[in-house]
Formats: sequence, C-alpha cells, structure tokens
Amino acid sequence: MNVLHLSAECYPVAKTGGLGDVVGALPKYQVGLGVNAMVIMPYYDRKFVAEHTFKIVHQGSGKLGYRSFDYQILKEDSGVLGFDLYLVKIPDLLDRPEIYSYPDETEQFTAFQLAVLEWLVNSNIKVDVFQCHDHHTGLIAYLIQNSANYKTLAKTPVVFTIHNGQYQGWMSWEKFHYLPGVDPSTGGLLEWNNCINPLAAAIKCCTKYTTVSPSYLDELSINSNGLEFLFELEGKKGIGILNGIDIDVWNPKTDEMLDTNYTPTTVKSGKAKNKAVLCEQFGLAIEKPLVVFIGRLVLEKGADKLTELIKEIMLRNQDEVSFLVLGSGEKQIENDLKELQSYLKNYNCYIGYDEQLSHQIYGGADFILMPSRVEPCGLNQLYALKYGTIPIVRSTGGLKDSVIDFENQGGYGIRFEDVSVLQMVYAVQRAIELYKDTKKVAQLRKLMMGLDFSWTKSANEYVALYKSLILKS
Ligand code: ADP
Repeated sequence: MNVLHLSAECYPVAKTGGLGDVVGALPKYQVGLGVNAMVIMPYYDRKFVAEHTFKIVHQGSGKLGYRSFDYQILKEDSGVLGFDLYLVKIPDLLDRPEIYSYPDETEQFTAFQLAVLEWLVNSNIKVDVFQCHDHHTGLIAYLIQNSANYKTLAKTPVVFTIHNGQYQGWMSWEKFHYLPGVDPSTGGLLEWNNCINPLAAAIKCCTKYTTVSPSYLDELSINSNGLEFLFELEGKKGIGILNGIDIDVWNPKTDEMLDTNYTPTTVKSGKAKNKAVLCEQFGLAIEKPLVVFIGRLVLEKGADKLTELIKEIMLRNQDEVSFLVLGSGEKQIENDLKELQSYLKNYNCYIGYDEQLSHQIYGGADFILMPSRVEPCGLNQLYALKYGTIPIVRSTGGLKDSVIDFENQGGYGIRFEDVSVLQMVYAVQRAIELYKDTKKVAQLRKLMMGLDFSWTKSANEYVALYKSLILKS
C-alpha cells in the first residue's frame, strides 16, 4: 500500500511544532508495519536540506492563475528518515528559509499542492491513499474530485488529519482562478463564510478526517473558529486518533541532546544532573521545584496568562518554586515575560526556538505547565511523561486524554479546569506540596516513564483506516 503524506512540516527537515513531530514519526512507524509511507513537503532553505543529498526525480511546470511556475521534485538519497522524503522546489516560492509568515502564503501552499498533483499525473508514482495534514494541504481532496486536470486521481481516498483547526488557510474568492480545470459551479465545496476555506473544503471533500485526539474530535463541533456547524454536519466522517511519540528521538535513555541520560531506575540522579545544568545556565535555585513552560506564546496555549501567574505565584510562594519559560510568539507576551526577568528571582525565560534546549528542559524540569485554551493533542505532556516530568494541564483536548490527576486512581499529573490565573496558581501550589513528598514524586516518575504513548498503537489505527478505505474505493 502506497500512502503519500502531504505536509508543510516534517522533523528534522523543518518543524515549528507538533505537526512537524508527527509527520517526522508516523510514516516511519507505518513503514515498520509494511506500508510504503512517503512524505512530500515544500523545499526549505534549511540545514537538513543543505546537509543531505537529493536527486531530481521529476520536473515540470504548472500555472497559478496567470502566473506560470517551474517545479522540481527532489528525493532524499540516503533514506535516513526511515521513509521516502520528497521536496517540491519552485524558484522564488518554495525555496525559502522560513516555513510560514510570508505574505504570499496562499500562493506558496496552493502552488505546492498543484505541483504535487502535476507530478502524480505526469509520472508513474502510484498512490493508494493521500494522507493530508492541516489546511496547507486542504485543497487536494477538492482538486482531485473536481478538476479535469487531475481526474485520474479522483478515486484515490483522502484521509485529512486536523492538527490544528484554528488555522484554516482562508483565501479570497479572487484567487479561485488559481485552481485549474474546475467548474465554478463546484465552488460551494470551497466556500465558508464568504471566502475559500481550505480546511472547510478538506472536511467536505475528504473520505475521512482524523483529529489528533478523541476529545478534540468532540470539541471541534463546539469550538473550531467558525467551523462548528460544519463539524456537526460532517461528524460521521471523523475519527480521533491520539498522537504518539517517536521514541527514537524522545527517550531519556538515549537522547543525545541531554546532558545526562537516565532510565526509570536512574531517574532521580539523572534528572538532578540535568536540572543542575539548567539551573546553572539560567540562574535558578536547584533545591526548589522547577516548573517550566515550553511552546508557542499564543492565546491558544494560554501563554497570555503566564506573566500574571508567575507574578502571583512569586508573591504567594516566593521561596518555594523556580520558573523557566522557553517559547516565542506574540510580541506582547514575549516582552512581558522578558520584563519579569528584571525584578523576579528564580525566574528566567528564553525567547526563541531551540530544539536542544527543549530536550534539556524536559530532562531537567520537575513539572511542565500547559494551561492551553485549545490543545488538539499536545506533545509536550507526552514527552514530559517519558522524561519523568509531572504535567500540570488544563483539562482539554489531548491533555484530557493523556493526563490523569495524581489524586485519582492510576493518576500521575495535575489537572485543572479553567484558564484562570487562580486555578493555575492553585495547581502550581499543589505541585509545590507534591514536590515535598519525595517518595510520592519518585513513585510518580517511575509510573509516568513506564506509560506507553509510543506510535505503535496509533500507527496501526491509521493503517487499519487506510485498508478499509482502499477496500471501499
Ligand atoms: P503545537 O500546537 O505548537 O504544535 P504541540 O504540543 O503539538 O504544540 O507540539 C509542540 C512541539 O514543539 C514540541 O515538540 C515542543 O517541544 C516544540 N516546541 C514548541 N516551542 C518550542 C521552542 N520555543 N523551542 C523548542 N521547541 C519548541
């Protein structure tokens, strides 16, 4: 079975968050299950691309409205990722260093999707299932079913995975002419709230859609940035599959980015050494419980509440806790967090993106705080569990599906209900109290590290889904 994953991100080629982690791991586990899983993504001018050899396997041209473009399909030569990796290169459009944030993002991702389809109809690559990820690939299902140019692909099932339903790729109707060979009467399939909405188009046209946790599937019909009614209508097509973690990358026993490796048996000393390195680097007191935040500094993650929470906690429990934040995002939140550095002791932040530092933090922290408003799956808490770091999470989405409060049967984390500073303060105070009980902490660490959140189970669920769709097509 040939499965083609289409994505804007794939670790370690290019990553800004969970999407990259998933697309870097899931195909590898699917290959392990006997599936020929391949990934195609835009070409980025990045370290991984510079350091690896790629072969041009196809070249051609396409049209984006009135503009013609030439594209190349490059294939990574060594197979180092455990699956075939293809890149789409288009001069001046898909050959840049950043993944997002260009003003012509619509043109970038539309051209990406068109080039992939052009390649497929002009080569002998066979695809049994399209596995599309997020709105950047949301037009594929519509195009194969409605464009005369791609009708040889029309029967191929499309599984569309929603990693984040907040971002939808909205395009104005003036750009409808970017889509070749389509009859304007099919435009209703693209439409949501007076614009072309690639995420909505994907939900309408895909064979099945999946969300990255079962709870997120339920939440989309209540909270999905305007698409609630659509999710209500199309709910029968939805399946929730919890993400896993790539234990080749995220394993404290083997993680080369950690100062000290450790196992469940050596977790106490291993974490203490990693914590010492972190505390030294960031000027934090080692004997206090270390609470961290890692992630995008945006409302979705509840990051706007961090400054107030940290101030409040330091006021009430000044000598009892240390805080460290790693993240980047909204400038106001970044500035507020930086300003705290000037007058708070036992607090520090690193504003930016640093993969290695994130590993060291999972390894050295005692608690990780995730006050997310929306969390489709959340990988941080899964990495934290593997590294024996106790998650403090708001009960939402994948956090709800993967963290049980330590006061409940079989529990190991700390949960709270609302994105309110008071509830967060209370949750951190519970962490401070818990930390004093060294026996309990040791027991929880062992329990968490023994939990199985690897990809094996979820990769099987995806493969079972593909097989059922192929049988029907
Ligand atoms: P998102 O909604 O951002 O995709 P996830 O929890 O699914 O959230 O995935 C976040 C991933 O991005 C994790 O691998 C996390 O460690 C990583 N990450 C987020 N921010 C940073 C940062 N500033 N530096 C390093 N890694 C980061």
